[in-house]
This record gives sequence, structure tokens and C-alpha cells, in this order.
Amino acid sequence: MMNSIKNLTYDEMQKWALQKGLKPFVGRQIFEWVFSKNVESTDSMRNIAKNVRNIIEKEGPLSLLELKKHEVNEGDGTEKFLFSCLDGNALESVLIRSAGRNTVCVSSQIGCAMGCTFCRTADMGILRDLSSGEIVEQVIQITRLTHERVTNVVFMGMGEPFNNYQEVIKAATVLNHEKGLNIGARHITISTAGIVPRVREFSHLPYQFKLAISLNAANDEKRNELMPINRRYSLSELLKTAKYYTDVTNKLITFEYVLIDGVNNTQKDAQELIKQLSHIPSKLNIIPFNEIDSKFQRPGERDISTFLSYFEGVNFAVTLRNSGGKGIQAACGQLYHEVLLS
Ligand code: SF4
Repeated sequence: MMNSIKNLTYDEMQKWALQKGLKPFVGRQIFEWVFSKNVESTDSMRNIAKNVRNIIEKEGPLSLLELKKHEVNEGDGTEKFLFSCLDGNALESVLIRSAGRNTVCVSSQIGCAMGCTFCRTADMGILRDLSSGEIVEQVIQITRLTHERVTNVVFMGMGEPFNNYQEVIKAATVLNHEKGLNIGARHITISTAGIVPRVREFSHLPYQFKLAISLNAANDEKRNELMPINRRYSLSELLKTAKYYTDVTNKLITFEYVLIDGVNNTQKDAQELIKQLSHIPSKLNIIPFNEIDSKFQRPGERDISTFLSYFEGVNFAVTLRNSGGKGIQAACGQLYHEVLLS
């Protein structure tokens, strides 16, 4: 991993300062310059002595990403950003605007190893994990480019966040820290395809981050087809762990369900889903599939409404999420770095 003070949390920055023979408060000041005041170079760190700025520079680059492409979907204001990392790899992030919220969907890995059959990122395979600094910088750069405050962050871009657990949790703490980006912990959601041991571990973290599970099927047979991880951690094991999470944290869990025509949108699917989820304090987000070059299709609008009607009277909230940015391939399951960077 690239050395950079941007990969440090608030506590680590103070330890780093001590190791360099500096007072911990200098580490706290640098943390604020980097993450709260959002500076691009050490020259802007006005209260940091020149010799300390030299130490920071020797540590490694302050800027870890470079913007390569920026697209705006005029229809709904969704924006997609293609960044290159310093090693030439590329990643994508998306800004979604809705009801006064600016939500950034961040990537946590370059590519993904999970192989979900409906997801475009899966075609890339896994190239590498992102560092916490590379994850946080996606939000920093989008703030800088749009001049707007980011209110929410979802870890639902490229990659399986729980396959890069340490860096993802570090990034979330920096995003949340009041001297960092100061985004409320309840406005930060981490989504997993279902890495059961990590869900258990996450249940015991002392933070209020939210958890989402990408479910997409209500029985093992269908889920095995859509999400190979289900062969390792079965649906019953995953849902048992989801219940464990809600018991331990006293928080709701969100289930994401990508609705695919003729695959998981029958009345039987809905009934199985209701049976599986009714004992778990949860919310269900139904996301009509976004068509990409694949064998799957989005259901028609009438079929989507019919599927939703099966949930009338259930004891959990059900929301239809038409994920933004379809015109620019920024919607859920469409991220893929198409531009080879020179
Ligand atoms: S849906 Fe998420 S976990 Fe599955 S392959 Fe795509 S990026 Fe990875």
C-alpha cells in the first residue's frame, strides 16, 4: 500500500506525530488540514512548521487520486467520477442527489472477487484493495469538485467492503470524525454480499455505522445462482447472523433486493422473502435491475408495482429504489472501469 498520511486515522495521526518526535497535537492539526480543511498541498497548512511539512512530504503523496472523467446525468443530477490511482488503476464513485441529501457511493476495491452474476464490476475480477485514504479521498474530491457538502456515504460501489474490512472501517471512522469529514455515523452505510464472520465482527464495533445486506433471493437455490458467496455462507446462516446483528446493536438492518425479470420477481419469491424477513427488524429496498450487457432484464413497470403489492401489510418497511444515473452507467451494479488510463 502507498505510504501517505492520508491513510491514517485520528489516533494513528497522533501516534505518527509522536514517532516523528512531534507533539500529538501537531498530528491533530495535520488531520484537520487533510480531512476537514481539505487541502491539496502542505503549503496550505499555515500553522504547521516548514520542517514538519517536509516530514509529511517525505512520508508520501498527499493526493492519492486524480480525476479522469466526470459525467452528469441531466435527468436526475446523478454524477459519476472516474479516478485514477497513483499506480494507474482506476475506480469509480457516484454522487446521488435526493431529497436534500448528497450521497456518495464509494468504491472499496479495484474490481471485486465475489462474482455476482448480475453485476458488471464482477467481470473485472479483483485487482486490489483500496487504502482508507483512497476511499476517503473519493468523498474529499467530490466535495471539492461540486462545492457541495456530502451528507451521506454508502459503501456500495466497486468491491465487497468486508473483503477489505480494516481499510473500510478506518475510512468510515475518518469520514465520521468531527475533525475529519464530520459525516454522521448513521449516515454512513456499509453494504455486504454476506461475509458472515465479518457481519458478526461488525455487530460489536463501537460505532453507529449502518449495515446493508445485498440479498437478492429468498432461497438458496436462486441465491446460489446470483451470488456465489451463498455457497459458502447459506441464506439461513446469513439471516441468522443478520438477526444476531439486530439483537446486539438494537438497530435495523437494510436488505437490498435487485429485482430481475423472470428470476426473482414472482409472488412465491415475495412470499418466501416475507417469511424470511418478518422476524428480523429490517427494511427492504427493492431495486429494479439496471440493464447492462447481460442475460438479465429489468421487469416492466407494471410487474414492479405488482411485486411491491405483495408486501402490503408486512411488518417491515419496503421501499422502491430506482437507483439514479442509468444514463451514465452509474447505477447499482453498473460500475466498471471502461477507460484504460495512460
Ligand atoms: S454486487 Fe457487489 S459484491 Fe457482488 S460482484 Fe458486484 S461489487 Fe462485488
